[in-house]
Amino acid sequence: MKGKHKSYFLIITVILILINVFFILRSGRWGGHKKDFDRIDTVTAGKSKLIIISSDAKLSKETVKKLAQTFVQVYPALTLRFNPSSSRKIILLLDTVYKGIAGTKGDIVRINSKWLIRHPQETDVLTHELMHVVQNFPIDVKLTWIKEGMADYVRYKIGLNNINAKWKLPPLTQEHNYVNSYRVAAKFFVWLEQRYGGLLIDHLNSTLFQQGYSAAFWSLETGRTLDQLWSDYMFREFRKNQ
Ligand SMILES: [Zn+2]
Repeated sequence: MKGKHKSYFLIITVILILINVFFILRSGRWGGHKKDFDRIDTVTAGKSKLIIISSDAKLSKETVKKLAQTFVQVYPALTLRFNPSSSRKIILLLDTVYKGIAGTKGDIVRINSKWLIRHPQETDVLTHELMHVVQNFPIDVKLTWIKEGMADYVRYKIGLNNINAKWKLPPLTQEHNYVNSYRVAAKFFVWLEQRYGGLLIDHLNSTLFQQGYSAAFWSLETGRTLDQLWSDYMFREFRKNQ
């Protein structure tokens, strides 16, 4: 395509995307939407595309660029390892409507732009959310800790800006439990991987995709129940640090 045709095509694509976003947000009761937007950027990584719709003029170009770079580096690695048939078109909304920090529904990711302006180094929030795009399997609410733990596990493993963001896995305390989710579970996954081999998390992922997860997963993979594994982890980590 050349010249005029190309720009018509682009305008139609943008309109279709906005209609799509509008309906998804309406149906999901996901904090509404903003009718006007400040800018749209499109970035491609292999066969995948990220459409960034920013509705906050205060958000710096540098931060948007950093988010785009994060997508380019992180998304192909996540899809390759965890789900090669992940969505190829992801929409990132940066606005002040969403009151949490960040969230994902299907292939739409939202980040609270006000929060991002206050925390410009936290661009790996996108790494965490992209993992949720990849994990498009239904999951029992009781297992949310696994989903969130895995999203922080990948942020720890392949996040680009964790050091600048001063984001790290927290020191283990006696009060911790894997159900604390997020970074606490991520740290447990890192330990499990070191002890039982690099494929354990991949197996966990494929079991979740095949809807075959049950508590027996841990015994089959490691010979220990989940609670026994957690006790082993606590025991070894505290002994190591004494
Ligand atoms: Zn999450």
